Amino acid sequence: MDAVYNSYNANATSKINIAEYFARYRELIGSMSIDLKGKLGKEEFENVSQNCSINKLITEEYLLPPMIRSAQQKTTPRIPSNVNLQTLSCLKEKYSNDPKVYRPALKYQNETTVNYSQPIETDPKIIPGEDILVYIRIYHPFRSQNHEIPKRRMSVVLNHVIVMLGHQTLAELRDKIDCVSDLSCTIESSENPTEFLDTNNRDTYKSSFFYIENTFYNDTRHEESKNNSEPIINWAKTRKLGPFHTEKMEDVRVDSLTVRFGYPWVFQHQGNCEHLITFSDARLVNCNDHSAVANYPRIFRARPVKNAYCLMCIERPIHWIVIGNDRLPHDPCHFCHQCFIRYNYIDGKKIGTFKAYRYPRDTEILKFVTMKKKT
Ligand SMILES: [Zn+2]
Ligand SMILES: [Zn+2]
Repeated sequence: MDAVYNSYNANATSKINIAEYFARYRELIGSMSIDLKGKLGKEEFENVSQNCSINKLITEEYLLPPMIRSAQQKTTPRIPSNVNLQTLSCLKEKYSNDPKVYRPALKYQNETTVNYSQPIETDPKIIPGEDILVYIRIYHPFRSQNHEIPKRRMSVVLNHVIVMLGHQTLAELRDKIDCVSDLSCTIESSENPTEFLDTNNRDTYKSSFFYIENTFYNDTRHEESKNNSEPIINWAKTRKLGPFHTEKMEDVRVDSLTVRFGYPWVFQHQGNCEHLITFSDARLVNCNDHSAVANYPRIFRARPVKNAYCLMCIERPIHWIVIGNDRLPHDPCHFCHQCFIRYNYIDGKKIGTFKAYRYPRDTEILKFVTMKKKT
């Protein structure tokens, strides 16, 4: 497969076994552990720590908001006047004629850090300097190349970044991935709209796999799980691709993997919902991290989402999707729960014929990442 997708290597590291890498790193810092305070003396130690402070890397210009920074760069371009180069004279012309203010493209400006208000404090605890944190970026599924689909909908868009401990398994990662395909519920509920429905597609269709470095990691925790990697492996054999291996995702620790950081891998669930995933970072736990193991894996960053509002009141978020109702101007039509009941039922009795489905949403994560409605 590397031969087919080798262009992605430009943005990826070489293959790294996470556990081995940090074992070597711990060894290295262990052998270098010198008591600097004792050797240098207090005053000298303070000098060294101040001169090596990371704050030294921050300039006054860096602290300005991006728009002001870029405006300043525009009005005062630092182009030397005594150099006779064609490129510089073109740059000068560009800065002096273009009325636009250049906005720098910040790589992570579309992500929000999810700040959980109450970290869990129960035992067991993680050990700073020993345990490993691994960051994994999960992207929304994207449409395949099709001329009828607008180009913007074919781009790869972040869903969320999950942080987990090295000793946790790929199955724990799978359980933390939120996707609308999992949260959807295909049970028609117009006859019993007030009944509590504690199920969704994740409970019904449990099969899934990760594809990482020529190995399919299948979810085999449930009896009814299917091996969705099998038809792909058979298809690949006919095209002389492979060989591929299979393992159980619940048996594989994340730090036992040998991966290329930045290289796109695949998570597939619900039969055909495919997400690209990348391992973006790994580091040793420090004292500032949440100390209880129960805090991991957790969604660390997420892309903000626009909340969808009820078409009737335009005030409350959607809870219902209504299909085939000839008393409505739209099909499908989206309702909040209150408007859905008031408009479609009299004394608990359904008016006319229509189908109603619960709107898929993860209320827990939406609390943190929903953008405020414009008034
Ligand atoms: Zn999905
Ligand atoms: Zn409403």
